[in-house]
Parts: sequence; C-alpha cells; structure tokens
Amino acid sequence: MQIGSNIHTHTVWSDGRDSMETVVETALRKGFHSVGISDHSYTWFDERYCMQRGKEAAYTAELRRLRERYDGQIDVLTGIEYDLAGDAPALETGYVIGSAHYVRIGGEYLPVDEDVPNFRRLLEAAGGGLELAKRYFSELAEQILRVRPDVLGHFDLLTKFSMVEETEAYRDCAREALLAAIPAVKAVEVNTGAMARGLRNSPYPADFLLQTIREAGGQVILSSDAHRAEHLDFAFGETLERLRRLGFTQVLERRKAGFVPVSIG
Ligand SMILES: [Zn+2]
Ligand SMILES: [Zn+2]
Repeated sequence: MQIGSNIHTHTVWSDGRDSMETVVETALRKGFHSVGISDHSYTWFDERYCMQRGKEAAYTAELRRLRERYDGQIDVLTGIEYDLAGDAPALETGYVIGSAHYVRIGGEYLPVDEDVPNFRRLLEAAGGGLELAKRYFSELAEQILRVRPDVLGHFDLLTKFSMVEETEAYRDCAREALLAAIPAVKAVEVNTGAMARGLRNSPYPADFLLQTIREAGGQVILSSDAHRAEHLDFAFGETLERLRRLGFTQVLERRKAGFVPVSIG
C-alpha cells in the first residue's frame, strides 16, 4: 500500500525551493494521483517565510493554470497553510491547513520552529518548557476551534528541536488540547517535515498523541511538509508502518472530490 498524495507542500511562492510546476512534475513522476500546494499565508508580523502581500490572486491563477494543464494526469489542488496568528488568507482554496508557528509574548511574535537560538529565547520568555507547552497548545486549540481548518498542521511543532521535556504534565496538556481540536477538523496531519530536515526520526505528532487521535476516533492525513520537490513522499513508507503499529487502519487522502479514506491494512 502506497500513499500517492501530499497536500502540504511549499514552493517559491513562500519559503519552498521549487516552482509549483516542478512540484507537480515531481509528483507525477512519483506516481501520485494528487498534489496540493499549500504555501504560507501572509503574516504581517514576519514577512520572511510567507507569501508576499497581495499575491493571492496570482497564486490561485497559477494553480488554476496547472490544474488545467495536468488535467487527467494528476489532481492539482489549491491549498494554503494558514498561520493561525495571522490574518485569514484572502483567497479561495480547496482546503486549509491550520498551523501555529509563533507564540505571542509581550507583544512580540516569537517563532517556534526557526532555529535553536530563537527557540531558547522563546523558552526563556515563556518561563520554561511546560509553561510554553501550556500556552502553545491551549492557544492552538482555541484558534482551531475558531478557524476550523480542514487539517490541523504539525500539532506538536514545539518539539522540533527536542528541547521540551515530555513529562506527564506535558503529555496531559498536549492531549487535552488535541482532544478539543479533533472534532473541529477533518484530519490531523502526520507530518514528516522535520525528518526530511534531519532533525527528528519520527513524525509530528508524537506516538502518544497519535494514540490519542486513534482512541478518539480522529482521522489522520500523511504529509511531508515538502519545501523541495524531491521530499514529496519523504519517509512515507516507514510512517505508514508506524501508523499500522499504532492501530490505524486508514488515512485520509485529498482528491479532487474531497477527502477520502484509504485503507492501510
Ligand atoms: Zn508549518
Ligand atoms: Zn508547511
């Protein structure tokens, strides 16, 4: 059983390396039946990683062109990764991935996933790992309930640099937020992005959270958060194996008609 779809991908329209067309061509070569582009929505408080202001119409027009060009070969889907601290994205999309990349402390938006020095700063400003986790997860759950995106992106992104200890108290607050968020989304993302960057050897979210999703009857969708086309299916095989081990029998895939369950048994 192979997964032939990835709807969490970045291109030169935000912080990805490749053009949309290269991503689509690569997906086609890998035998995918669908690929979605989900560049970062505009964040006014940090313009370094996101789509430039006012580019939304050109972004959707280019995706429309590719959808038509590759019609009958692969479904090209228009998505967006909506940073939940930013403004609502001003464009029509087929789906929305809701993600939190910043924590606002003292009026400043501090990045969660940029690099170790910034994460250290964030830990200090929040008053330690557990305090940061409480804040990050409870704000994320609130934002998810407000926005109700299709997909909840990289739920425990704050574990990217392995600098937050996974204590019982940490697990409790992560679980509580996840359980609150699950009913508001179609799927929780299982994201291999940090594996592709060589930072982790397991996907987001951690196994205990995957167990929570399964026990709560939530759905998962596999992605690699690809910032370069060759990573479109990064670690998909071993991640499916992990999901099977944890008792999952299906994942969702996004196709032209919508989200569909795919058996992984
Ligand atoms: Zn993200
Ligand atoms: Zn992303």
